[in-house]
Amino acid sequence: MTVAEILDGKATAKAVRAEVRAAVDRLSERGVQPGLSVVLVGEDPASQVYVRNKDRAAVDAGFVARTVRLPAETSQAELEAEVEKLSADESVHGILVQLPLPAGLDAERVLARLDPAKDVDGLLPASVAALVLGRPGLRPCTPAGCIELLDRYGIGLEGKHVVIVGRSMLVGKPFAFLALERNATVSICHSRTKDLGQHCRSADVIVAAVGRERLIQGDWVRPGAVVLDVGINRGSDGKLVGDVDFAAASEKASAITPVPGGIGPMTIAMLMKNTLLAALAANGIAPSEVYPSASSLD
Ligand code: NDP
Repeated sequence: MTVAEILDGKATAKAVRAEVRAAVDRLSERGVQPGLSVVLVGEDPASQVYVRNKDRAAVDAGFVARTVRLPAETSQAELEAEVEKLSADESVHGILVQLPLPAGLDAERVLARLDPAKDVDGLLPASVAALVLGRPGLRPCTPAGCIELLDRYGIGLEGKHVVIVGRSMLVGKPFAFLALERNATVSICHSRTKDLGQHCRSADVIVAAVGRERLIQGDWVRPGAVVLDVGINRGSDGKLVGDVDFAAASEKASAITPVPGGIGPMTIAMLMKNTLLAALAANGIAPSEVYPSASSLD
């Protein structure tokens, strides 16, 4: 029997994207149109799908959307020159280099060419530093999407014990800092953590960001806990599944995200929001001038 409220990332992302679109329409009256450029190198099938989805979302948002497709044989120097060119282009407010890059290309050196003001992925050292120091900046899309989803369901983190499983720079670590900003008490677990189940059982909020099907078992979820499942795995039947045993966890949790339809759509919505923010900053416009729920942006 399912007792948990389903945190509907698909519907929430749609609402966020509609708000971004409305802000873009208001912005157009001032002659500003946000621009997002996505750089895709090579033919990786998963990256192709991700880039197509981002491009579609950017067009829907009313952005100038551009995908720069480069062959897998592109040299390090050519790729760095392309990113430098986009960094210097005033019509481009957000740049995203789709990772992973083909073997032989050094992502760190490529990203060093990217203007931090256009880092809509929030992954550059300058963005990470701003997050850790608690300064304004563009936040990584996936953990920011988790927070936005919680906010919109009225689920606060203050005083809660948040247990994050996974310590990547993409999800686990930045989520820890975002949760600390919200006055949560944070534990970060990883592959060397002893007795992961025991840690999870002590959580008010579990964030699973590992990439292992059904790692988080139902009886690891304390009654009433909130479960955010970031993981995306291809199940044996070919369907997408998360890191959490959804059916069992739903019987214990008070709220849970599904996979698909949970954090995935929120990630794209936050990319749109970050691009809007970057365009506003570049034009010296306060978010409150164009965005309906500006408190979440300022
Ligand atoms: P990484 O592979 O970079 O990190 C995985 C983390 O999980 C590591 O910290 C690793 O520990 C930890 N881990 C691995 N095995 C175990 C285990 N048995 N017990 C506890 N911890 C373990 O992955 P990402 O952070 O990039 O992604 C995580 C998942 O989230 C993936 O499924 C990915 O597809 C998905 N994802 C989804 C997004 C979305 O939009 N919904 C966006 C980004 C990612 P250690 O550090 O010790 O190796």
